[in-house]
This record gives sequence, structure tokens and C-alpha cells, in this order.
Amino acid sequence: MITLPSHLQVHDDRFRALTHPMSRLDRIAEGFTWTEGPVWFGDRDALLFSDIPSRRIMMWSETTGVTLYRAESGFNNGNTRDRQGRLVGCRHGARDVVRTEHDGTLTVLASDFNGKRLNSPNDVVVSSDGAVWFTDPTYGIISDFEGYRSDPEQPSRNVYRLSPEGVLSVVVDDFAQPNGLCFSPDESLLYIAESGSSHDDSVAPVIRQFAVEGGTLTDKGVFATLDAGLPDGMRCDVQGNLWSSAADGVHCFAPDGTLLGKILVPELVSNLCFGGPDGRRMFITATSSVYRVFVDVPGAEPWTRGRLC
Ligand code: MG
Repeated sequence: MITLPSHLQVHDDRFRALTHPMSRLDRIAEGFTWTEGPVWFGDRDALLFSDIPSRRIMMWSETTGVTLYRAESGFNNGNTRDRQGRLVGCRHGARDVVRTEHDGTLTVLASDFNGKRLNSPNDVVVSSDGAVWFTDPTYGIISDFEGYRSDPEQPSRNVYRLSPEGVLSVVVDDFAQPNGLCFSPDESLLYIAESGSSHDDSVAPVIRQFAVEGGTLTDKGVFATLDAGLPDGMRCDVQGNLWSSAADGVHCFAPDGTLLGKILVPELVSNLCFGGPDGRRMFITATSSVYRVFVDVPGAEPWTRGRLC
């Protein structure tokens, strides 16, 4: 049996095919306050990520290292791209979901529901039909650390879908704190992280699974329960394995929910994404740093595998 480097922990032999004995865990950026929202821009060979409390979005590339992408980001948290390649992000400060147009201007996509302000949109995905799905926990308004302290106006912490026609609707309303979310490769399933154990020990740190039918979700129950910390950001690879943030690193689950293995990271992990020249680099935001690790499987999101078509 080939020995893997110490940052790779095998729980099921299927994990070995998803990594490599020469894999390294490289810290490619450091010195931040709380990193989040990694998203790969293959057309720029660059990674964008948020430093939420410092209110900025940073860019990293192999050739230029770390540069400032946007100052005064409004406590921007989770990021993704739509099929036109535009950046779509969640801002705690303005409590909205915002799209960055190709000319750099910002378009607010959602900021209120039923006449009341959203809590603090946290993470976002865009399905191939152009609908925008996002979570709305209260982390951005429970202190002044990553937003502005305020009482929530919404009666629950919802998951929303903004239709391509611009209609905002609640698709799930029974989370303590919905957080990261991602689709299975064929978009038939949506995984949503429950991170409510951050402030309530009675909430289990689970990833829930929902069947997607058009614009509605059907609850298929708990997909996996984390054994270290709680789930925040997540991504699927092309084989349908789910990679979730956790307290001790990144946990990889098979489509049946089996824990295949872990990438151990020396800082608390908030989120991750696939990218790099062949889609086989995982970028991990972890507290004050960003790490890169080779994984031998590309991400499910098409723009993570090179230039956006
Ligand atoms: Mg999050």
C-alpha cells in the first residue's frame, strides 16, 4: 500500500483514486482575518476569495500572487459565477446578493423578501437555467465582526431561489442556520449545510440532501453528519463526491454519504472550490489563509475546468 502524505487521511480505499501520493498542501496566501468565498476564474487563471471582516475581495494567481480585487466589499462572503461568467456574491453589509457585470458595475439581485430585509446572505449557487439559490442565516447581523449587528426581520433562516424571471421564493425554511450549498453534477440534488451548532449545541452538524424539481425542493433527509466541527462551504466533483469544509480540514463523501477521506488542514476551514489549469486543484479558505492541494478529480462546476465557454 502506497503511503500518502500526512495531510491525507483515508477512511475508505476509494479515496486513494481521488488524490495522489505526491500531493502537497501549499499555503498560497496568508495574513487575512477570515477567508471565505473561493471561486475560480479560469479565464484569468485566478482565484477570487473574500476576507470578510476586512471587507475586501482578494485575487490570487500563480504568476502575480495575491492582489486586491475589490476594496470595500461590504463584508462579502460566499461567491460563485453564473453561466455568463459573472461573479455573484453575498454581502452581509447590505444584506443582499449582488452580481458583478462584465463592465464592473454591481447589480443587486435580492435584498428583501415580503417587504422585510434579508438576514445576511451567506453562500450562493447558480443553476444552469440561471436561477440563483442562496442561504440566509443570521451570522452577518449577530455581531459587528462580519457585518452590522441588527435584529433579524425575517421570521426564519431561509434558503431562497431567485428565478430567471426575477421572482424570489423560499425553498426551505426549517434550518437553524443554512450555510454552504452545492448541486450534484446533474443538478438533480441540492446539498445544504446546517451550521446551527455554531451557537446551539442541540443542532446536529449535518449536510441535508434535497431533490430538485424545477424550482422546488423535496427533502431527502440527512446526507452526512460531520465528526469534526460543522459544515460550511461545499463543492461536488464530477463523480458526484461531496467535499465539505470541517473543523479539521475538508471531508470527502461518496454520493451514498460514506466518508471516503479527509484533507487535514492546520486551520479551521470555511469553504473550498475546484480550479487550476485542469480543474484538479482544490483551493481551501481556512481562517487566516488559503491553501491549494492537488486532487485527482475535477470539480462539477463547468467553469472550474479552464476557460468559461
Ligand atoms: Mg458560509
